[in-house]
Amino acid sequence: MTTLTLALSKGRIFDETVPLLEAAGLAPLEDPERSRKLVIGTRNRNVALLIVRASDVPTYVEHGGEGLYQPLDLEIGRCRMVVATRRGFDWTGSVQRGGRVRVATKYVRIAREHFAAKGMHVDLIKLYGSMELAPLTGLADAIVDLVDTGNTLKANKLKAVEDILAVSSRLIVNPASLKLKRAALAPLIEALAKASARGGS
Ligand code: AMP
Repeated sequence: MTTLTLALSKGRIFDETVPLLEAAGLAPLEDPERSRKLVIGTRNRNVALLIVRASDVPTYVEHGGEGLYQPLDLEIGRCRMVVATRRGFDWTGSVQRGGRVRVATKYVRIAREHFAAKGMHVDLIKLYGSMELAPLTGLADAIVDLVDTGNTLKANKLKAVEDILAVSSRLIVNPASLKLKRAALAPLIEALAKASARGGS
């Protein structure tokens, strides 16, 4: 029997994924927030969950293949990627003056493409977390970060000044696995697609 491994991160995406997994017959046997195990079984004994950092998920999935196949928008983890500054900061003026602005972010590639498309010169500063601190401490003029409710920006006296893109969580698959394990993977993708469509209706 073919075994399948799904890589997932803890936290908000995991919480939103559980109902989809349950509907697809893949309910986790343990709660990763409580268990110290990093590999967790599911109701389907041929499918296991790997608990990793969100930013490590693509690395695990791509391992042993090349590139990533993206067959399904799960329509969870919805949020926006935005540019934000301190409330009193004159972003429009800085942009119009054409001086270099310093932008701190975890999402360097998206930020670089966004500002390049606008013809803006920015100095990008790579951070790994708590980006909201960068404008407050003077490390950067702006940040590129994910915003959901806007509460984090508000609590730190920041405001969104540009919308970059709408974000949602996708199912990604190793292309080699898709070829070799298609018989096992196709029904799983189908079940998750159905569960996701039900959730959205
Ligand atoms: P909020 O206060 O609801 O606007 O959430 C903002 C904080 O949560 C920021 O630190 C974001 O990086 C993080 N965040 C918001 N939405 C998501 C998401 N869908 N996935 C991962 N992180 C998120």
